[in-house]
Amino acid sequence: MHEVALMEDILAIVDRHKNGQGFDYVNEIELIVGDISNVMPEALFMAFDMLKASGEYPFLLEDAMLVMEQEAAEARCTVCKRNYKPDNRFAFCPDCEMPSGEIIKGEVFQIISYEGGRYDESEAQ
Ligand SMILES: [Zn+2]
Repeated sequence: MHEVALMEDILAIVDRHKNGQGFDYVNEIELIVGDISNVMPEALFMAFDMLKASGEYPFLLEDAMLVMEQEAAEARCTVCKRNYKPDNRFAFCPDCEMPSGEIIKGEVFQIISYEGGRYDESEAQ
């Protein structure tokens, strides 16, 4: 399940970035995942819950959420210039049946944003 490794990378990036922002905790991470990005959203959610529960990422609040936006795949045929929805990255154009589609959407896998904050002075241990 390579989603665990991906999630570890995401948490490491967020952790580093939140230090620059002066945040103590993170309560939401939003990702965008393309339909043909080779990432399974369900596996990513599982990895997030598992890593959150592991205690290795104390900056994640107990009720921290992972939000995932999915991007539909889109390809453009380089022969007839038609846009179509490919099943995968080697899709055939429905018009001219050429396997020459250029993927223009759906391969993305990125952090869009995250939310965090600081603990109150009084709450700080
Ligand atoms: Zn075509």
